[in-house]
Amino acid sequence: MDFAWTQEQDAFRGKIRSFLDANLPENWEKFSEHGPASPALTAFAREFCVKLAEAGILFPHWPVEMGGEGLGPWEQQILAEEMWISGEPRGGQYMNVNWIGPTLEKYGTPEQKARYLVPITEGKSLWCQGFSEPNAGSDLASLRTRAAREDGPDGEVYKINGQKIWTSYAGLADTCFLLTRTSDDRKRGITILLVPMDTPGITVRNIPSLIGEGDIHEVFFDDVTVPVGARFGEEGQAWEIIAYSLRNERLGIPRFTLARAALNRAVEMLKARGAFAGEAVRIEAARCMALCEGAGTANYAIVQKRVDGLGVGPESSSARYATVMAERAVVEFVVEFLPEALADASPYLKMHHQRGIVAGVASGAAEIQLNIIASEVLELPREPR
Ligand SMILES: Cc1cc2nc3c(=O)[nH]c(=O)nc-3n(C[C@H](O)[C@H](O)[C@H](O)COP(=O)(O)OP(=O)(O)OC[C@H]3O[C@@H](n4cnc5c(N)ncnc54)[C@H](O)[C@@H]3O)c2cc1C
Repeated sequence: MDFAWTQEQDAFRGKIRSFLDANLPENWEKFSEHGPASPALTAFAREFCVKLAEAGILFPHWPVEMGGEGLGPWEQQILAEEMWISGEPRGGQYMNVNWIGPTLEKYGTPEQKARYLVPITEGKSLWCQGFSEPNAGSDLASLRTRAAREDGPDGEVYKINGQKIWTSYAGLADTCFLLTRTSDDRKRGITILLVPMDTPGITVRNIPSLIGEGDIHEVFFDDVTVPVGARFGEEGQAWEIIAYSLRNERLGIPRFTLARAALNRAVEMLKARGAFAGEAVRIEAARCMALCEGAGTANYAIVQKRVDGLGVGPESSSARYATVMAERAVVEFVVEFLPEALADASPYLKMHHQRGIVAGVASGAAEIQLNIIASEVLELPREPR
């Protein structure tokens, strides 16, 4: 494999860096401590994404038919790396360009595309992902939020009742990409509804957390009624659609790049205060860097597969697990050798800490990746019950 970037890719990265330099405020590192889904960062992102759209770098990796430049997976990777290293100034809109837009294009009705794609391409919409429930996280197929089809005064509707939890961005989102149960079949009984968050009967409660204010929520649905046209795909098609969506989502967050940048920042600070001479700190820093590089290589192998038009299989779990190990190691390195960074000595390391402590839980538990690697990559036998 040739690891060098092409001249065009270097130029593309340079264009994004120049944009970031010109459009992130001077106090950005401190500001990003608000957290990725905070009201402050969401308000900033609403203006920032409009500017990205105007500069042609909101979704250049999308195909030309969708209004993109057709630049492809490597450019999506470069774009995501530069944004993520900067603390993700797109806020929740990263989801729009990584997976919601492409999923709408593939499975949406003409009405849904007309309604939702334009605001995404203008940098003006915020979605939330209503998947997890109190008893359905890793075991998502256990979800119980019901959508019952019935006659309404203006035609057929779905009446939704149930609860979601850990929903990022729910407090400010315009629309929820909601998984509901329409029949008792574990997987084929799940149906997606696109639900405007201002629909009567929806209650959002903030869950306080260390990762920034307003980040995660409980969302309650009490007799929430949406027209049948809000259904995304067919009844029971959700499992197929989210498998497609999540492949795009999870490859679109290059967490190892922020971990590596945070490690470099921590080492610079340690050197500046003459605290990088001991063997223990140097060995640990080297171990963290090796984990970051390993995660990077595993992720890049998958990007290359996408470029080659090959299906991405269970090896994406290895890349995700390698990323979790790298993030956790850097978080622990900073806690051990530079704990004052997490007070006020380094807003950047604090921001990394907020993002890093959820590694291996948000977007799916790390242990589930190990299960997939054991069964589908290594084909290990299951213990007899
Ligand atoms: C910051 C953050 C943001 C999130 N944002 C969203 C969001 O926007 N939308 C959304 O729908 N969800 C969101 N989530 C929820 C996230 O997807 C779930 O937390 C995750 O899937 C794990 O589910 P759970 O919390 O129910 O834990 P569980 O599934 O109950 O897992 C608890 C523990 O048991 C382990 N475990 C469970 N099953 C197995 C098994 N079969 N084998 C081995 N170990 C197992 C897990 O690894 C974990 O350590 C978010 C979570 C966080 C932390």
